[in-house]
Amino acid sequence: MKNESGNYGRPAGLRRGRRRFAAAVLAAGILYAARAGGGAGPAGEGAMQDPDRMTDADWKKTLTEEQYDVMRCSATERPFTGKYWNHHGTGVYACAACGQELFRSSEKFDSGTGWPGFWRTAAAGRVIEKADTSHGMRRVEVVCSRCGGHLGHVFEDGPQPTGMRYCINSAALEFSPAAPPASGDPRLETATFGAGCFWCSEAAFDLLEGVREVKVGYMGGTVEKPTYKQVSRGDTGHAEVAQVTYDPARVSFDELLHVFWKIHDPTTLNRQGADVGTQYRSVVFYHSDEQKRRAEASAAKEAAKLGKKVVTQIAPAAVFYPAEDYHQEYFKNNPAFLP
Ligand SMILES: [Zn+2]
Repeated sequence: MKNESGNYGRPAGLRRGRRRFAAAVLAAGILYAARAGGGAGPAGEGAMQDPDRMTDADWKKTLTEEQYDVMRCSATERPFTGKYWNHHGTGVYACAACGQELFRSSEKFDSGTGWPGFWRTAAAGRVIEKADTSHGMRRVEVVCSRCGGHLGHVFEDGPQPTGMRYCINSAALEFSPAAPPASGDPRLETATFGAGCFWCSEAAFDLLEGVREVKVGYMGGTVEKPTYKQVSRGDTGHAEVAQVTYDPARVSFDELLHVFWKIHDPTTLNRQGADVGTQYRSVVFYHSDEQKRRAEASAAKEAAKLGKKVVTQIAPAAVFYPAEDYHQEYFKNNPAFLP
């Protein structure tokens, strides 16, 4: 990993922050120990319509006319008319028919064609490529791997690092902002961390001055609106995360990272103590290039300090699904679980 040097060290700020960190880390340790022996909470199962069982009539009912034409009849919207060809929000573009996350804003580029262009899909296996010889052309059609909906085509004239251009109909996509502006206050920023059990992370970040709110939830998986039960089984791909809304004038992202490293073991792959599974993976979901750079630099520094490989994933933020209400402020509401 590239080690970005520069203005990383801020001795005065760190010293100021250290007392707060000590309190947070101590609390996290206690909470972690409490949770390690504890069981999982109850959960309801979120039912989702199986795309394979959708009939043509069902699709007609659930999709708009334009979505139906594009996604079920492989029509192409007219260029420069869709809602996303000139769209520059930060977030995720999901399949308009089934909600699977397909593309991310960090991999979108202005292709000049009048359709949204992406140089990579959000994850492997999200789309299926099919040979398409319609209209006397040899093209590669791209469909959603989950519902089979037509999305567009992929060409080999995109930008590096992949050289691919996924040319997608706006009508086949539904955009979700990565992090809705917290309480509308533009000074606040968002950070999202996966450090094993989210109750512990929540409690640790909650103690920091400058942290306005911490919500626990799920990020980075393939299922829309996952439930705790689904995530716990470990097959949705989501990580348990704490989403932190903070005032960067009072607590820096580096300081949040400092707590993040302290409250978990970033050297064990998909495992935190007794908790095993990808849902407990160590991950920083970044909301800006600046956060990405700082997280990478911080991870390199942490690895050097530990003398061990840090397995923490550093990935672009995706849709944050808040966990069920009974998970929020778990320890505050369940003091019996505290030692
Ligand atoms: Zn789909």
